[in-house]
Amino acid sequence: MNGGISQTEGARALLAFWRAAGVDMDEAEAIYAGTAPFRTASPAVAPPKAAPRLKRPAPGPDAPVETARTLAAAATTITELQAAVEKFEGCALKATARNTAFSDGVIGAPVLILGEAPGKDEDEQGKPFVGRSGQLLDRMLTQIGLTRRSNVLISNTIYWRPPGNRDPTQGEIIACLPFVERLIELTRPKLLLLTGKAAAHTVLKREDAVMKLRGRRLLYNREGLPAPVNAMVMLHPAYLLRQPQQKRLAWADLLAAEAWLKELGVELASHP
Ligand code: URA
Repeated sequence: MNGGISQTEGARALLAFWRAAGVDMDEAEAIYAGTAPFRTASPAVAPPKAAPRLKRPAPGPDAPVETARTLAAAATTITELQAAVEKFEGCALKATARNTAFSDGVIGAPVLILGEAPGKDEDEQGKPFVGRSGQLLDRMLTQIGLTRRSNVLISNTIYWRPPGNRDPTQGEIIACLPFVERLIELTRPKLLLLTGKAAAHTVLKREDAVMKLRGRRLLYNREGLPAPVNAMVMLHPAYLLRQPQQKRLAWADLLAAEAWLKELGVELASHP
């Protein structure tokens, strides 16, 4: 008992109220009387409408990186990778650059060199390291038997010239990184030479000063690589043009690279 009326009386009163209010109570009363099974929906009821389709989210800041990853992963050769880079629209620098400067040298070479970004000459010719710093780089490499004609492939951390030769932004570097990583994966060089801060920090994912990293035997590793890749950081030739007194450090690094290459059995051209 509850305040004078039973639960049964209360329920009946409620049903009577709903009927009086115009609700179709036949089925409800049958259920209440125990003569009809309880159903959550009558078969006559139309199936629920499909949920409204969610709008595709607006592309976020990661979209260019995702596109780059997809394009890079689909490339199975360096030639396909170059085509993928040329097709990529996720780096705003492309809009202001004249050409894509992807690589120069021998595909399948045992030495892969990565620089920072194309400058004016590279932008004009669509090849990395063809300006003054590239010429210095060539002279340095020749001293230890490395040339783009025989045993070196050269590329960059980004493939389009930043306007006015400003430093590339983190966004620009990150957008191109999947291509850089895929280039290393496809090349699997005996030695990866990273010239300057942008290449060293981006590829090795380390923040140590170049002066601390240079000339040391390092390993580059990443998921998907069957084995770590030997890597060495060098001073950037553009820096050496500005600071010629540092060439003695660069010379020490070259000799360290040469010794390592010999141990690795890399064929070097005879010195000039
Ligand atoms: N500096 C670089 O790092 N790359 C080039 O291609 C040219 C200059």
